[in-house]
Amino acid sequence: MNTALDLLERVRAEGCEITARGDRIHLRADKPLPDILLDALKAHKPEVLGVLATGASHKPAPELDGWTTADWKEFFAERAGIFQFDGGMGRREAEQAAFRLCVLRWLRVHPVEGDTDSCAWCHGSEDSEGGVDLLGLNPLPVWAHPGCSQLLMATRLNEAADALAAMGVDEMDQG
Ligand SMILES: [Zn+2]
Repeated sequence: MNTALDLLERVRAEGCEITARGDRIHLRADKPLPDILLDALKAHKPEVLGVLATGASHKPAPELDGWTTADWKEFFAERAGIFQFDGGMGRREAEQAAFRLCVLRWLRVHPVEGDTDSCAWCHGSEDSEGGVDLLGLNPLPVWAHPGCSQLLMATRLNEAADALAAMGVDEMDQG
């Protein structure tokens, strides 16, 4: 259980955009957040800023990599069609496979930025635990502690799924 991640998820579920501005948490929302969330953000500010600082939770504009929402949808629909009609998969299975490709592509075009001296998640230096590189999913040479890498990847996969869903690309898509 990671409090900061849970919190970010709940804040975003309220339709609020949360970013780090230096050492401050910046919120943008149409309606105020419930007090209980605001209090929790205050109480866990260092952890929340830590998560935001990884860049892992930054949701870039869909156009950032040159692909529009329409491009992503087309990529998804095309791959799902290929898996279904050429691969003989069921529709649902084909969409899940196409969605995984979209996630992999999203991870590649939204890399975790970091330096080779510190863990991409906690920014700590290499310790007796050693470090693992990010499974080839990241085009930049970053690494994380073994424990941190799990948190980082879980966050990244959620980020990818959220970003794709925001563009109308998800594995339950019936289009
Ligand atoms: Zn770490």
